Amino acid sequence: MSNRFIDQTAPGIAGLTPYVPGKPLSELERELGIKGSIKLASNENPLGPSPLVRQAMLDQVGQVGRYPDGGAFELRRAIAARHDVEPACVTVGNGSNDVLDMIARVFLWPGRESLFSQYAFAVYPLSSMAVGATLKVAPAVDHGHDLDAMRALVGDDTGVVWIANPNNPTGTRLAGDALRAFVESVPAQVIVVIDEAYFEYVDEADHPDTSQWLGDFPNLVVTRTFSKAFGLAALRVGYGLSHPDLADLLNRVRQPFNVDSMAQAAALAALEDRDFLARSVELNRLGMRQLTEGVTRLGLPFIPSVGNFLTIDLGREAGPVDQALLRLGVVTRPVANYGLPNHLRVSIGLPEENARFLAALEQVI
Ligand SMILES: *Cc1c(COP(=O)(O)O)cnc(C)c1O
Repeated sequence: MSNRFIDQTAPGIAGLTPYVPGKPLSELERELGIKGSIKLASNENPLGPSPLVRQAMLDQVGQVGRYPDGGAFELRRAIAARHDVEPACVTVGNGSNDVLDMIARVFLWPGRESLFSQYAFAVYPLSSMAVGATLKVAPAVDHGHDLDAMRALVGDDTGVVWIANPNNPTGTRLAGDALRAFVESVPAQVIVVIDEAYFEYVDEADHPDTSQWLGDFPNLVVTRTFSKAFGLAALRVGYGLSHPDLADLLNRVRQPFNVDSMAQAAALAALEDRDFLARSVELNRLGMRQLTEGVTRLGLPFIPSVGNFLTIDLGREAGPVDQALLRLGVVTRPVANYGLPNHLRVSIGLPEENARFLAALEQVI
């Protein structure tokens, strides 16, 4: 597609294509005239927000004429307490994507290299290309991160290494020992980002909470989000945890009021509602079993996942299957843009939503 301004853009912009989000239900209903569809396309919490969050937001309504607390004092304090770090270690983001973007802006530029794995989360190349950095992609192993292959690509020009643990769209994860050995092996001037957007769903005993490593690695940034298990995807709130000097740099490029007052209040309430979080994780555990058993019954292999989604190998192009599912009112996510043309990613929903997906899939294939 031609664009009359393309020659006037900053390095990297011409090569970008916009992030493709899961289709909103309103769009599907507009396009196909279907009512009562279900969305299992963006790894959202099917329960929605906790009741405490709803109340906290209502309590904030009267304040929306005022700017939010730009320093997010209360929220940063609560996040810091949760991870047992100083508030100065916390950088709030308009979603954790915002924090990823700040990292790219501070530590990458033309000539610098941005390193991530094949099949890693799409925002890493997007944010890196937007600042003109060179992309280095390490081949995956079993659809997951190959840390040796990644380490081999770290060089003098490497600015940032990005690791999603668990990763989206594959649901793969790295155990603590292997990941820690990798972080130790990376030169101290290279920023290592560990994106833990799906942390809450993982219950494997050897899974690392890398927020506890900050004291050992001043070059580490750990990102977390309220968009997934906490059920606040629409509010756009996430955060980075790092050495205060690193947080200071991120805060220099942060938009002054990047997390609005509703989102701050909601995130605070979400942190308090541990029962809701536990219920969400349990629902996901049961839904994962329902989906993996159902898909196995259909004879389809899948990538073993510890997240709130399952990426299924259809053994043929997923695009047409996705289209057929849409016509049945089921929105999922083909992941051809990740180089996985035969895979379909489905988010874990309510039990009846999972059942409806499985029935629709059986009908379509
Ligand atoms: C969903 C997701 C995020 C979170 O994005 P937000 O901007 O916080 O909504 C971050 N990383 C990965 C790998 C994700 O899948």
